[in-house]
Amino acid sequence: MSPANTVAAYAATDPTGPLTKTTIERRDVGPHDVRFDIHFAGICHSDIHTVRAEWGQPSYPVVPGHEIAGIVTEIGSDVTRFKVGDHVGVGCFVDSCRECKNCRAGLEQYCTGGGMTGTYNAVGRDGKPTYGGYSGSIVVDENYVLRIPEALGLDAAAPLLCAGITTYSPLRHWKVGPGTRLGVVGLGGLGHMAVKLGAAMGAEVTVLSQSLKKMEDGLRLGASHYYATADRATFRELRNSFDVILNTVSADLDLGRFLGMLDLDGVFVELGLPENPLVVPSFALLGMRRSITGSAIGGIPETQEMLDYCAEHHVAPEIEVIEPDYINEAYERVIASDVRYRFVIDTESLREA
Ligand code: NAP
Ligand code: ZN
Ligand code: ZN
Repeated sequence: MSPANTVAAYAATDPTGPLTKTTIERRDVGPHDVRFDIHFAGICHSDIHTVRAEWGQPSYPVVPGHEIAGIVTEIGSDVTRFKVGDHVGVGCFVDSCRECKNCRAGLEQYCTGGGMTGTYNAVGRDGKPTYGGYSGSIVVDENYVLRIPEALGLDAAAPLLCAGITTYSPLRHWKVGPGTRLGVVGLGGLGHMAVKLGAAMGAEVTVLSQSLKKMEDGLRLGASHYYATADRATFRELRNSFDVILNTVSADLDLGRFLGMLDLDGVFVELGLPENPLVVPSFALLGMRRSITGSAIGGIPETQEMLDYCAEHHVAPEIEVIEPDYINEAYERVIASDVRYRFVIDTESLREA
């Protein structure tokens, strides 16, 4: 086994303790694999849900991180799409069955042949656990690696691999554009990307945040309107006024009040993954023939399309770059909605170790 396979990483070993520094083993580079040095890894709220066992018991140790950006250092003998030195990224999955109709259509996140293989807390084809981006390097099959355009910095590109595609995909699917009245609930990692992308696509964007604390930011990011959901008057004033609402909130919401803000045939897209199920009041749903739906990340072709779109339209997340030893504090700040608007770990010290 190559010494390059032993890599420093930050891992959680139980639901309550801090993440601590450790080492993990990556596999040898196979014929179709790409090895790359990780330069930056974003912190997604899903990392926190996972390590804290809010979605069920994960398989510890968990090395989170599915917003990964870096530079190729080694390629397998049959790799055709990448070369050493390329800027690349990996998002929420590193494999899927490749044979079902969804995989063949480039919708790997909806794989029906056993499901996608998560970038962490899953088991790879080799039978070994997968470990994510809070680490110095990674080995991934080239079909699950994205190309990061030169115009995007690797630090700002990282959050696009989850927060970017998770908001881009539903905006495209529900044809958000000029004339669409779009509501974005929650101004965190996903929410701020929804505002930026929605505005870039020409929609009229309204932020629905808990308070008015981030109003200046929301308007600067591209929103036309900004309301506090702690104020009950907001729901009266905005009754029947959106075509699409993207909900990015990581906690439980009083769904009826939010549904009431949708106009006839309006669509409420659930993107957040709180611990508890949604409670759907029937009257709010059928009153205006409203729909509730959900959307999970995006497939490989659409993720590439999103990266190219962001490079072309100068859309990038607002980030706070941190050292790995700040991860635990960053988690507390994310939970307290004190993130502006994505923490990105500079993994340089993990590459040296
Ligand atoms: P985040 O940065 O923590 O943003 C969530 C935002 O929700 C916060 O900034 C806050 O916005 C709002 N919020 C938090 N607690 C709240 C509460 N108790 N009541 C009302 N609003 C609250 O998280 P994220 O990384 O964007 O992820 C958001 C959710 O999406 C998570 O559940 C994550 O697991 C999920 N997710 C889903 C997908 C997918 O494929 N669908 C992909 C990635 C993540 P304000 O302060 O502005 O109110
Ligand atoms: Zn994520
Ligand atoms: Zn499949």
